[in-house]
Amino acid sequence: MTNKVIAITGASSGIGEATARHLARSGAIVVLGARRVERLEKIVSEIKASGGEALAVKLDVTSREDMTTFIETTVNRFGRIDVLINNAGVMLIAPLAETKVDEWDRMIDVNIKGVLYGIAATLPVMQRQGSGHVINVSSVAGHRVGKGAAVYCGTKFAVRAISEGFRQEVGGTIRSTIISPGAVTTELPDHTTSPQVAEAMKAIYSTAIDADAIARAIGYAIEQPADVDVNEIFIRPTAQE
Ligand code: NDP
Repeated sequence: MTNKVIAITGASSGIGEATARHLARSGAIVVLGARRVERLEKIVSEIKASGGEALAVKLDVTSREDMTTFIETTVNRFGRIDVLINNAGVMLIAPLAETKVDEWDRMIDVNIKGVLYGIAATLPVMQRQGSGHVINVSSVAGHRVGKGAAVYCGTKFAVRAISEGFRQEVGGTIRSTIISPGAVTTELPDHTTSPQVAEAMKAIYSTAIDADAIARAIGYAIEQPADVDVNEIFIRPTAQE
């Protein structure tokens, strides 16, 4: 892990933040991207105060230009990119009949197009380097459709499909990992605008686990020797169905 250069999208809270802190503690150089740059700056200064190396870059993953700048800034500053963690995501759960089309668009833009833009900006660099590792955060919802979650699940199924295609096409020297968490205590469910769903979500998240559990799983995948490709990790609360 020491001195690996790792770029993380959606690092201003939840799983991304926990992962940045965990990997920095393990010796990695971490580049944190998200829209709430003041939160990123605070995390970066705390990492640096503990002796780590980190950089904050303002990033909206729905912008190709931002994503290109994010990766270019990483490479210009640290000379390479060893790992990209496509973690940024939104979960706006509501029944299809509520036709919250703007929310469908947002989930597709962040959860699917954001991942693709990350791959587009990073893959040519990793191919030039002859090595690299792309980690995409999907979900248990990328394996199983729940009522009210059709579009969110659709985006997370797509993340797994893209990841598997990536593995088949560019494997060999570049590794790929899918991370599929169950309920994790983060801000993710707070953005739901459907009151009924928000209520149901409380029950699901009552046994949620800490984001550090996901950070440790991501660390495990990165730490393996170069010829070992951890393709997917499921991490669920023990009590989750
Ligand atoms: P949070 O809401 O805490 O974190 C989401 C992160 O994504 C934030 O840092 C946010 O930063 C960022 N983000 C959202 N939109 C954008 C955007 N347009 N551009 C850049 N960054 C963006 O939730 P989690 O930590 O839980 O979510 C992380 C990932 O984990 C997501 O992909 C989610 O689907 C997945 N996941 C989470 C589970 C859970 O139970 N928590 C379970 C399974 C999967 P900012 O707003 O500052 O831009």
